[in-house]
Amino acid sequence: MTTSPEQKTVQTRTNAHAVVAVHSAKGGVGKSTVSVNLAVGLAQRGLRVGLLDADIHGPSATLLLGNADWPDPGPEPNTIHPLKAHGIHFISMGNIANKQTPLIWRGAMVHNMLSQFYSQVLWPELDILLIDMPPGTGDALLTTAQADPPSGVIVVSTPQELSLLDTVRGVRAFRDLNVPILGFVENMSFLSCTGCGYEDDLFGKGAAEAVAEQLGFPFLGALPIDSVICDSGDAGVPFVLARSASASVQAMNAIVDKV
Ligand code: ADP
Repeated sequence: MTTSPEQKTVQTRTNAHAVVAVHSAKGGVGKSTVSVNLAVGLAQRGLRVGLLDADIHGPSATLLLGNADWPDPGPEPNTIHPLKAHGIHFISMGNIANKQTPLIWRGAMVHNMLSQFYSQVLWPELDILLIDMPPGTGDALLTTAQADPPSGVIVVSTPQELSLLDTVRGVRAFRDLNVPILGFVENMSFLSCTGCGYEDDLFGKGAAEAVAEQLGFPFLGALPIDSVICDSGDAGVPFVLARSASASVQAMNAIVDKV
């Protein structure tokens, strides 16, 4: 993989001991849901956590974290403070762009905006900065690799063949950038009937785990399809904070413990 000439080295103010990207090759597989819950789960365990929502075209952190405020300006011109929610620091295009404005931007504009998340946001000292990557293997991947290269990537996939095909492509892109794969999360692994408890392997439970094993990467865990997960996302309260001992909450906490 090569960088294009207009993509110069990005100045960065990130102040994190570890930078970890969360990636999925396809959109809609739950990458942002996993990113946000991982971030909040790690903060609950006492770590200083930041979340940089690198999905400039389709930002999700604003809604999933329930904080749509504008960022406060910093003391120097062209600087802003990250926002806070549920014990983490975050920045997202969703807090900057007007909700009504479609984000039809060229690659170079995405690169510039994303670079500013690194260079103009006054991140505090962090133990871990999670990068919620946009789907696919486009410009954002190169920008993040140039700005503050992740020390590893967590891959999110559903067990469906269509998602897994692209997942393998994404894994190759990170390998080309020398970013190690920390592990796979299988999301929407199965559907459990809330009435009778019957487990429906809708997308083929275990297929993402099998691919992780084939490729020699750790498997961090599986999350079911659960209305608690989508409802909590819509409510802006990460489900990892739920006091219930439901299978989803337990599974998410087990994933956080492995990271
Ligand atoms: P991505 O970041 O991969 O585009 P999101 O995290 O935005 O995906 O999730 C897409 C939608 O699916 C959201 O509405 C989210 O609430 C929902 N969702 C994600 N994971 C689950 C799950 N395990 N069970 C139920 N709904 C889920």
